[in-house]
Amino acid sequence: MEMNQDILIRKRINGRKFYSRLKKEIIQVYGCICQCCGESNPTLLTIDHINGGGDKHRKEVGSHVLYPWLKKNGYPKDNFQLLCWNCNCTKGHFGCCPHDPDFEIKNTISKTNDAFRKRKNKIEVIDHYGGKCFNCGINNILFLTIHHINNDGAQHRREMKIRDIYQWVKRNNFPEDMFQILCYNCNCSKSILFKNTDINRSKTLVWGGTDESAYRDSRIAR
Ligand SMILES: [Zn+2]
Ligand SMILES: [Zn+2]
Ligand SMILES: [Zn+2]
Repeated sequence: MEMNQDILIRKRINGRKFYSRLKKEIIQVYGCICQCCGESNPTLLTIDHINGGGDKHRKEVGSHVLYPWLKKNGYPKDNFQLLCWNCNCTKGHFGCCPHDPDFEIKNTISKTNDAFRKRKNKIEVIDHYGGKCFNCGINNILFLTIHHINNDGAQHRREMKIRDIYQWVKRNNFPEDMFQILCYNCNCSKSILFKNTDINRSKTLVWGGTDESAYRDSRIAR
């Protein structure tokens, strides 16, 4: 039993080392900065499918093999670029990033009543929990999302069959010590940091641990 656990951990560590080396290489090849806002912290950068179709492409090549696929195909530049998570996630949600000067025009935000209601819930919940990213302080609501402090969001949603987390939080009177607001950059890098730490710690590690301070220091140093 102990043995298996050891092998499993070693395998995971080797896999992560391979992946993080490859990611470093990819970030280098694609120019080291977010092509939208210029963010250069490598932890916050990800590959964007310039003309969309990311989901379809990931389905074709597999979600975990995009980086190896890029390498194998000689790092194509026609449809791939670096974006930070903030720019990438908002592009995914709204079709373009709020940094785009035509963002408002391109986005008739309340397209349907349902979308508008969801948005209203989100604004209320984000305001309740402080209205800005807990880690970096960004306060543009378009970049903000709710985060399960213990990183058990997926499990929570599954167990409680939650479709709309903002509605759930409202209905449950804004539980304390369970959520915080993060921007997509901090949210995504936090889950990456979780993956890069000892798997046994990943359940209990809370925002404020050593990995996080190292990350914050790297941001301050920039
Ligand atoms: Zn960006
Ligand atoms: Zn942007
Ligand atoms: Zn942030």
